[in-house]
Amino acid sequence: MLSLRLWSVRHARRLQRAYAALGPIVPLLAPVARAAGWQRTAAWLRPMERAAKGLLFDCRMCGECVLSATGMACPMNCAKSMRNGPCGGVRADGHCEVQPALPCAWVQATEGARRIAGDQGDIGAPLLPALDQRARGSSSWVALLQGRPAPTLQPLQPRQTDAAEQGPLERACNSGRFVVTVEVAPPDSADPGALLRRAALFEGLVDAINITDGAGGNCHMSSVAASAILAAHGHVPVYQVACRDRNRIAIQGDILGAAALGVRNLLCLTGDDVSQGDHPQAKPVFDLDAVSLLHVASSMCHSGVYASGRKLELAPQLFLGASVNPFVPPYVERIANLEKKILAGARFIQTQFCFDLAMFEDFMREVRRRQLHRRAHIIVGVGTLGSARALAWMAAHVPGVHVPATLLARIEAAADQQAQATRCCIETIQALSAIEGVAGVHVMGHRNENVLAEIIAECDLRSRQRLQGAAI
Ligand code: SF4
Repeated sequence: MLSLRLWSVRHARRLQRAYAALGPIVPLLAPVARAAGWQRTAAWLRPMERAAKGLLFDCRMCGECVLSATGMACPMNCAKSMRNGPCGGVRADGHCEVQPALPCAWVQATEGARRIAGDQGDIGAPLLPALDQRARGSSSWVALLQGRPAPTLQPLQPRQTDAAEQGPLERACNSGRFVVTVEVAPPDSADPGALLRRAALFEGLVDAINITDGAGGNCHMSSVAASAILAAHGHVPVYQVACRDRNRIAIQGDILGAAALGVRNLLCLTGDDVSQGDHPQAKPVFDLDAVSLLHVASSMCHSGVYASGRKLELAPQLFLGASVNPFVPPYVERIANLEKKILAGARFIQTQFCFDLAMFEDFMREVRRRQLHRRAHIIVGVGTLGSARALAWMAAHVPGVHVPATLLARIEAAADQQAQATRCCIETIQALSAIEGVAGVHVMGHRNENVLAEIIAECDLRSRQRLQGAAI
C-alpha cells in the first residue's frame, strides 16, 4: 500500500493530467447521475472510489478530497490530520514525528506538488478549513458531480487597530525595537504562587510570557487558567493553544474565556503528539490544525463570528500568532506554510529553537524576498541547556529540534559546559539581532528560568532597534 502511495506521488503530474482530462466529462455525467438519483449514484460510486483511491493514495474517504492541491498525497495519512502543511515535528530524514517508520505525508505532498508545478511553478495550495466531520465516508466524486468542490478558506484582511486598542505585546512589536518573549511552563500544582514566582523572574526583562499548552504532550495547569492568572497580576501572557486536546467548540469557548479574563495574545499551535508525553494512552483530537485554528480565531476577532457563522455579542481583541520551524524538512514548504499562517491571520511568528544560524539565514533570505517580515513580526526561538548531553538528548528526542554537530562539540569540549552553553546562546541572540527582518527573540528552556533571566539581562535586548521597517 505504501509503495503504491509513493508511486502516486512520483507520478503526480501524470495523475493530475488524468484528473484534468476527466474535468470536461463531469458536467456531462451530472444529468445522468441526477436522473438516477443521488442516493443510487452514491451507492455505485462510493465503493469504486474507495477501491481506486484506496489503492493509489491510501484514501480515507474524508469526503472533501483535496488530492490535486496536495501533490497527490492524501493529507488524511498525516497522523495529526494536518490539512494545510506539515507540523513542526518532521524528522530530519523526512519521516513522521508520530510514526517514524513512515514518510511524512506533507513531505510527500510537497514533492508531488513540485512535480505537478514543475521547476518554475508555484507549489502554493489553498487555505483549507477543518474537515466537516459529517462528510467522512461520503463520496467526493458525487460531490463533484453535484458541483460541490472541497471548500476553501478566504485569506483574511485583519482589521487595522490603533495604538489605544493594542495590547502591550502588539505595541512593542509595532514600536520598531527588539522584542523579547520568554516561555514558562505552567506548574504541576493548584497553587498560583508557583506560576507567579517563575513569572516574577522576568519582571521588566520581557515583553510577554508564553504559557505552554501541554508541551510535549505532558499535563500541567491549563494554559488558559495560567494565562489569566498572569494577566490578573499585571504580566503580559501569550496564551498558547494546541489543537491536540480540544475540538473547535471547546477551543472557541476557551478563546472567549481568555479574552474575558484579560488575555490579549494568542499563539495558535497544532501541538506535539501524545505519544511522547506522560499520557501516551490519551486520544489525540486534532479537529483543527494551526492554520484553521488561526482562521477561526481571526474570524472571531475581526468578523465577530464563530466558525459556525453565528454572531458573537462582543468580539475578542487578540493579537494572533503562529509558530514556524525552519530547521526541519520540507524546507521549501516551510515558507509556503508561513505564508498560509499569515494569510489566516497570524501577526507574529515564533520559531522553533534556532541553534543553526546558517540555516536560519537561508530561511530569512526567502522571508525577505517574499516580504513576509513586513506582514508579520518574526520572533526567533533561542535557548540553552545545561550540558552537551542534555542538548544531544533534546536533539534526539524532541521532535523538530535540530542541533548542529559543531555546536555540540563546542559545548562538549568546554570545562564548564553550562557556562559555554549560555555563551553560545548569547552569541546566537546577538547574531540574530543583526539579521534584517528579525523582530525579536523568544527565549525557551525547560525549568531553567533563572539562567534564561540572566541571559536576557546580559543581552539588554529591549533597548535595541531592529533591522526592519514596521510590519503592516
Ligand atoms: S510529521 Fe507531522 S505533518 Fe508529517 S505526517 Fe507526521 S504528524 Fe503529519
